[in-house]
Amino acid sequence: PGCLWVVATPIGHRDDFSVRAVETLRSVDVIACEDTRHSRPLLMHYNIATPQIALHEHNERDAVDAIIQRMLRGESVALISDAGTPLISDPGYRLVRAARAAGIKCVPVPGACAAIAALSVSGLPSDRFVFEGFLPPKSSARKARLQELAGDTRTLIFYESSHRVAESLADMAEVFGAEREAVLARELTKLFETVLGEPLGELARHVVRDTDQQKGEFVLMVRGRGEDADGRVAEGLRVFGILKEELP
Ligand code: SAM
Repeated sequence: PGCLWVVATPIGHRDDFSVRAVETLRSVDVIACEDTRHSRPLLMHYNIATPQIALHEHNERDAVDAIIQRMLRGESVALISDAGTPLISDPGYRLVRAARAAGIKCVPVPGACAAIAALSVSGLPSDRFVFEGFLPPKSSARKARLQELAGDTRTLIFYESSHRVAESLADMAEVFGAEREAVLARELTKLFETVLGEPLGELARHVVRDTDQQKGEFVLMVRGRGEDADGRVAEGLRVFGILKEELP
């Protein structure tokens, strides 16, 4: 059978497109795009004339069968989304799952991903982190999700849209506490790229005051819960347990 290439595209700056990504997209039989109209300018810019088909959220179920059939006939297919790495808060999960189940080889062509780009300049702990994607749009469901994450000690990474960033920051300040350190990365690799690091309470006020900070695309990162009294007590008990075994 053919092969499924999962190809990352830029998240803003057009030059963040690997040589291998461009060559792969030129050489496959067909490109499955999240939105063919959206991808056209980028593909034209790089002289990629490969035929395109649509694979978006709403047709993924039906489109998957047709694409799998093509690959079983020997065609090679590349999957791209509107920006960044497919499947990361983007379509493609069903296709990759079905391809692997059918014994079709899936090959990543890695590149830009907003979450990783943001984390890399955040100054927040990057050894352990959790990607939470988009929070629920309604405040009650959003707060419930945040509550589940309040005790997590890993750096939390969220995607957020411009019309909800202020609300989400307010909910985070309420659930995690106004003092918790956070970083808002906006418009990465684009003209108005900004990375703001402030305690959640201040950051929430900053974004309300300066409405420019509500425009564009955002990655919101929050430091994990720090060692608190409970954490220290638990650690003390653990050490005491070890000592009790060892001492006469
Ligand atoms: N697949 C993409 C990736 O690899 O990052 C993410 C797709 S998701 C539908 C779009 C969201 O990613 C935006 O709402 C924003 O939260 C984030 N994002 C994408 N590009 C960004 C950029 N240039 N700067 C900041 N955030 C970005």
